[in-house]
Amino acid sequence: MRINAFSDVCLRLLMLLASRPDTLLKTRDIAEAIDIPYNQVSKAVHRLGQLGHLDVKRGRTGGVQINPSGLSLGAGTLLRSLEGQGDLAECTTADGADACPLIAGCRLRTALGRAQEAFYQELDRWPIRDLATSPALRTLPFPTFP
Ligand code: SF4
Repeated sequence: MRINAFSDVCLRLLMLLASRPDTLLKTRDIAEAIDIPYNQVSKAVHRLGQLGHLDVKRGRTGGVQINPSGLSLGAGTLLRSLEGQGDLAECTTADGADACPLIAGCRLRTALGRAQEAFYQELDRWPIRDLATSPALRTLPFPTFP
């Protein structure tokens, strides 16, 4: 399995914020620190704010801060909400019609579904706060690092 690029941006953002949970950070500074274009980080901030994992304060003195929900969030739960639980293979079309002639009673589809569930369950053993202990996060050249 592979996570998509947007999920990776969201995870990097959450890990960075979780390494400085008491600090309000600017989206532009975050983008520079994790070397991701500003518009992508901005989209991730918006989505994670909608999901209730970040507190976003608008205005010149505003910024972004992870909240208790974000700190305790399991990585698997996050990926479920960002990527959904669709089939790993192209079993159906976007509108739900059968896309494969083998779909009736396909055991491979069942096996892939169970493997996907196991993937998410394993990742749920890792709350964001535990993913944020990497030394690399502490040494990022971050302008507002305390
Ligand atoms: S063979 Fe099974 S798992 Fe593969 S696309 Fe067809 S229905 Fe899906």
